[in-house]
Amino acid sequence: MERTKQTHEFKTEVKQFMHLIINSLYSNKEIFLRELISNASDAIDRLSFQAQTDSKILRNDTDFKIKITPDKENKTLTISDNGMGMTYDEVVDNIGTIARSGTAEFMKAIEKSNDKNTLTPELIGQFGVGFYSAFIVADKISIITRAAGEETATQWESTGDGSYTIEPVTKDGRGTDIILSLKPVEKDEQDFTENWTIRSIVKKHSDFVSYAIVMDVEHDEFETDAEGKQVLDKDSKPIKTGTVVKEETLNSMKAIWSRDKKDVTEEEYKDFYTHISHDWNPPLTQLHLKLEGLTEYSALIYIPSQAPMDLFTPERKHGVQLYCRRVFIMDDCKELIPEYLRFIKGVVDAPDLNLNISREILQQDALVRNIHKNLVKKILDALDQMDTEEYDKFYTELGAVIKEGIHSDWGNRDKIAKLARYKTTKSDGKWVSLQDYVNNMKPDQEDIYYLTGDNLAAILNSPHLETLKDKDIEVLLMTDPVDEFVIQSLPEFEKKKFKSAEKGDLGLDKVDDEKKETFSSLFEKIKSELDDKIKEVKPSSHLKDSVSCLSGDAYDMSSYMEKLLKASGQSMPDSKRILELNISHPVMGKIQSIYEKNNDDASLKDYSNLLYDLAIVGEGGKIENPARFSKLIGEVMAKAL
Ligand code: ADP
Repeated sequence: MERTKQTHEFKTEVKQFMHLIINSLYSNKEIFLRELISNASDAIDRLSFQAQTDSKILRNDTDFKIKITPDKENKTLTISDNGMGMTYDEVVDNIGTIARSGTAEFMKAIEKSNDKNTLTPELIGQFGVGFYSAFIVADKISIITRAAGEETATQWESTGDGSYTIEPVTKDGRGTDIILSLKPVEKDEQDFTENWTIRSIVKKHSDFVSYAIVMDVEHDEFETDAEGKQVLDKDSKPIKTGTVVKEETLNSMKAIWSRDKKDVTEEEYKDFYTHISHDWNPPLTQLHLKLEGLTEYSALIYIPSQAPMDLFTPERKHGVQLYCRRVFIMDDCKELIPEYLRFIKGVVDAPDLNLNISREILQQDALVRNIHKNLVKKILDALDQMDTEEYDKFYTELGAVIKEGIHSDWGNRDKIAKLARYKTTKSDGKWVSLQDYVNNMKPDQEDIYYLTGDNLAAILNSPHLETLKDKDIEVLLMTDPVDEFVIQSLPEFEKKKFKSAEKGDLGLDKVDDEKKETFSSLFEKIKSELDDKIKEVKPSSHLKDSVSCLSGDAYDMSSYMEKLLKASGQSMPDSKRILELNISHPVMGKIQSIYEKNNDDASLKDYSNLLYDLAIVGEGGKIENPARFSKLIGEVMAKAL
């Protein structure tokens, strides 16, 4: 199909995004270069990955590099690569829209941030705003790109004002040129056509890129003698004969994971982390590993200090990269790291990797499996050995993720359980390990008590905890959705069973049988009034101060679990729970005497409903008929006051 020059509008979200970028007065303009170099490097990665199975695609151009060309006269800066390039359709798909959910998240984060005009490097770093960041320094951008294996090229152009043009053009060789027409340089600002500016930015942000980043630099040539020594004039100055252009490589391309630990500085570790993770916050810590023997590999992996924003989105990027003898094999190799350690960033280099293996069967490769197993062990050990302060910091950010492993990694279940931390009724907001909990159990305490719910404040005040608090028994407060699954996968810890504070009989007090008998007839009456809502009425083993609460049988679903499943769209009948009444509470005595006088008294119906509604209110739930509730309370107060 013959194509002509066409003009397209950007999608709305792109417009919003570019508006933000262009109008943001942020102090770190130079970061655009890192983003464009990183795109170029990704494009070469993709090409080299494809060339592993289809070497013809390279067409003898195997000298992978990224070239930067500043042009002072025309005030342009060009970033070229001989990577994968893009077809016409790919340009439309990749450049005109924001396909990545990360960008939407990014927009949300900016909306939330106090100063909407300030895109901090941290924010940018977390999302990698990518290509569009070039509009911070450019008032026009042209992309000329030719996909590997294609004959024609495509030119895309935009001034960032809401539309772009696209047309077929010709280009020698595959790859992409990004040509930035630079905005005028303001006073005291960096001039991106200066060689030394480019050199220092590349050194600072892109030194570890594994392809050469080159720039043509003009050098003066001087007269030399037969031995190659410079000839000096009468003032002892060298004699200039002309100029020569030399291609200079700006980055060191150091594969720091293959170096010795003692030769790498903390600064280098940190820079490398920024490079591979696109996260501007320093990592919490890193593991630099070298394993020899049957499973040989070296690795440099990092634990971030903050949870990445895309931790719970499927499009998450920048995990662990796989290399073979310093040659890039693939990005985000999920086969190396289990899901519950998905926050780990880094590089694994496996010299004996079978390069003919396809991505689909990588998981079955014995070497990959061994590395996976070994990495998990090393990471779990490292977490276990962290000092408390550092570990608590880690856990606050990423605890909810690592706990998933208790449910999904059977082999390491006990190890991960040791790493779990919970806030408790006694910990005053601090994290407590299961081991510490068990060590602090009361001498006659048999079980580990816990309560689940979606917020700490609400469960901390739950009526279910009254008796436990009264007896000074500590209760684990579980507020992550994953905790429900954790508990199902972890029936016991150190031979102590887990027991929900809201389910079943807590078995702490012997209920006075005689007293129980006194109430049995009233309880039947209450049950008959509330028949459609509850399955049983019984004297409570949970309550001390409150008069009523709802509980489940030992094997029922917890109310939090039910809420979670409903929220995830599962349709399920409301499960009936047990209404527990506090027979030591004066209110129950009063109701009992009304019942004894007239077991058909009209007020018994109202009181039954009130007891039920109070139980719901006590656990932070929504009552069915708030108007009736408030009217009844009013009447009761009028009588009492
Ligand atoms: P990101 O790189 O985070 O996906 P960008 O907005 O920077 O986001 O780029 C969007 C897409 O455009 C990339 O995912 C890639 O497919 C394509 N792209 C950008 N730069 C290049 C390039 N130099 N060569 C080939 N494709 C590129």
